[in-house]
Amino acid sequence: MTISAPITQDVHTIPRRLPEGGVNLVGLTRDEMREALVAAGTPEKQAKMRVGQVWQWIYHWGVRDFGAMTNLAKDYRALLARSFVVELPEIVSKQVSADGTRKYLVRIAGGHEVETVYIPEEDRGTLCVSSQVGCTLTCSFCHTGTQRLVRNLTAGEIVGQVMLVRDDLGEWPVPGAPKDETRLLSNIVLMGMGEPLYNFEAVRDAMRIAMDPEGLSLSRRRITLSTSGVVPEIARTATEIGCNLAVSFHATTDDVRDVLVPINRKWNIAALLDSLREYPNLSNSERITFEYVMLDGVNDSDEDARRLVRLIEGIPAKINLIPFNEWPGAPYKRSSNNRIRAFADIIYKAGYASPIRTPRGEDIMAACGQLKSATERARKSRAQVAAEAGVPRA
Ligand code: SAH
Ligand code: SF4
Repeated sequence: MTISAPITQDVHTIPRRLPEGGVNLVGLTRDEMREALVAAGTPEKQAKMRVGQVWQWIYHWGVRDFGAMTNLAKDYRALLARSFVVELPEIVSKQVSADGTRKYLVRIAGGHEVETVYIPEEDRGTLCVSSQVGCTLTCSFCHTGTQRLVRNLTAGEIVGQVMLVRDDLGEWPVPGAPKDETRLLSNIVLMGMGEPLYNFEAVRDAMRIAMDPEGLSLSRRRITLSTSGVVPEIARTATEIGCNLAVSFHATTDDVRDVLVPINRKWNIAALLDSLREYPNLSNSERITFEYVMLDGVNDSDEDARRLVRLIEGIPAKINLIPFNEWPGAPYKRSSNNRIRAFADIIYKAGYASPIRTPRGEDIMAACGQLKSATERARKSRAQVAAEAGVPRA
């Protein structure tokens, strides 16, 4: 019998008890919060109601101070304050791009840092959330891939990014004010630092909190999880979260994908496509997004476009073409606009939507694949990056 390698990688996750005392309520599921409240002395009979009340204060109103939870008796507020905290990661710095994109450097427990990017658009605002500090995978075109993984984020640190940015946008509801349906932060994409399917449980719990109708209340259709192709975990995205799925496809032959997205050596294109064909909930209204980074002379030929169309035949899909975003020492160049348009045209004529993603926040290194916290000391050298990409040194 062969034993398959573990899916979730062995990186440590910090305990929820904070050194200064109380347990952090942010990031607990409803069941976990119930258990915590009972352990702190809440009578079993009241527990469900108390969870409902505290949940609404934290996630609907954005309240952090138990003293302000005015529908709870004073004694009960004091009990909560003795046992718990409502704590978010800390914003260390914020950069605003000429196009309005905001990049936040966020400090989490242990002094580690991740980046979170807010991208305003006319009819919506998308938050690009990180799920790990760095990434264990080493996609050769991705800046994050040059940073050693430090650890997985907890559910609280993942949903905490959403809450921090709501703070910064001043978007928590005000009691009595008319309900405003156009939200500044209306969508979440798990496309920041890290591979979300290597931190599945924390990502799932955080997204369930974000979707909870008595809290942040974001629809599952407004959340997209992007994976490099962790095949055995893909189906859980549909069954346990229910959000949209995007797959970092990026190449049409195993030879090229092995270099660009090295996880392909473990689960190749055929295995990935099989898992997508079997993906639960797949329909024309719930299509899979194939992300495809356009790298000059590497994966951008007409032949690649035609092969891509043949490969994905039968899968309800749209193809999101991402012009390569450069970073210092990157071993690739962006395809020309004409090349990208010609590639898009072939896909479009085959019957697939083929939007070209507009790079956002490039001037502050906030665009796709540019994230890497500058403070993490363990870095790979330029030469190492180039060698892994199979690019001869100049
Ligand atoms: N780890 C996940 C999600 C984070 S990356 C994944 O790989 O899917 C989000 C998207 O940006 C992925 O499609 C990724 O391949 C792409 N990307 C990475 N580096 C890039 C770069 N330098 N330019 C453009 N897109 C990039
Ligand atoms: Fe990790 Fe995604 Fe970057 Fe690959 S593209 S190194 S999986 S963050």
